[in-house]
Amino acid sequence: REIEAKQVSMDKTEYKDVWVYIETSAGKPRNVGLELLGEGRKLADAMGQNLAGVLIGNNIAELAKEVFAAGADKVYLVEAPELAHYSTDGYTATFTELINSYKPSVILLGATNDGRDLGPRIACRVGTGLTADCTGLGIDAATGLVAWTRPAFGGNIMATILCPEHRPQMGTVRPSVFKRPVPDYASSGEIIRAANTVKVQDIRTKLVEVIKVCTASCNLEEAEIIVSGGRGLCKPENFALVEELATVLGGAVGASRAAVDAGWKPVLHQVGQTGKTVGPKIYFACGISGAIQHMAGMSSSDIIIAINKDPDAPIFNMADYGIVGDITEVLPILTEEFRKI
Ligand code: FAD
Repeated sequence: REIEAKQVSMDKTEYKDVWVYIETSAGKPRNVGLELLGEGRKLADAMGQNLAGVLIGNNIAELAKEVFAAGADKVYLVEAPELAHYSTDGYTATFTELINSYKPSVILLGATNDGRDLGPRIACRVGTGLTADCTGLGIDAATGLVAWTRPAFGGNIMATILCPEHRPQMGTVRPSVFKRPVPDYASSGEIIRAANTVKVQDIRTKLVEVIKVCTASCNLEEAEIIVSGGRGLCKPENFALVEELATVLGGAVGASRAAVDAGWKPVLHQVGQTGKTVGPKIYFACGISGAIQHMAGMSSSDIIIAINKDPDAPIFNMADYGIVGDITEVLPILTEEFRKI
């Protein structure tokens, strides 16, 4: 109630700037944060405001260069040993403190495991709303508010959501929906160091061990090449053909929901509306029909190559290159040819 009362009586003009949470992994910014800086730049310019990246961790000041190169004017930096690894308690408290101190107007986070955990908690702490899993961002011409677009009703409609009453306006955005801006390493900006207020005893979870369940072959969101297989592979053993091509090309392995539901690949590999959204340089769709829910997850790929025995398969409407043929014949030939390069 206290937060609600504060929000109702708030002076919205105090809230300025567009913030992007820069999630890190293995000491590097994850792509999604950089993609969102590109979109954040457009929002900030349209609103006449600054763009800032938020970096939380330990010994990560170096990463500010990447954030400026992707278009930010400022970096809010909080470093402490307690924040070396993501924790719900530690990062929620730190981010909330930053918002209360500096009052941003808009906050963008990646719709990743961490972003989906962190975003709603911060929104709740500061008494605002959050639009989850967005696939589009813009400015609503009538109000000047951020227009958050996301699929609704099982992907049958795209809903546009505005946040007129509360600040900050917040949302999580799917990775790979937007392209990373071309980095400009000549850019620099202001680093604002904020003191850490989190103590070890405030963090109720402890990182004991990191167990990698995802190897390079399922790191779909960061992959430049993805080879995906669908029901057209006919049997699970044929996935080896997809995996072999992916290995030769140094790419990741994707799957349609039909292939995942059949138990041929774990859900970590699923591409589409209820799987991952990907945007590689090259996407191979092997024995995939091109259902709208699959295309929702891969349509922003630079080049789509489809292999299907049905010349009328809808995937060919979206593909840049199409091969009509049996997957068990075409894939080994392609793999052999790429092996020679
Ligand atoms: P099919 O549609 O059965 O297509 C198989 C294709 O293989 C056909 O085009 C056929 O011509 C071709 N083929 C067959 N044999 C061969 C051969 N030997 N050589 C070459 N080609 C061959 N789907 C997703 O993928 N991702 C999602 O996230 C997703 N989310 C969904 C969410 C909802 C709410 C709903 C309702 C559905 C969702 N789906 C999703 C399911 C989606 O509608 C399709 O059913 C699914 O994508 C079909 O997978 P597929 O293309 O592998 O199979």
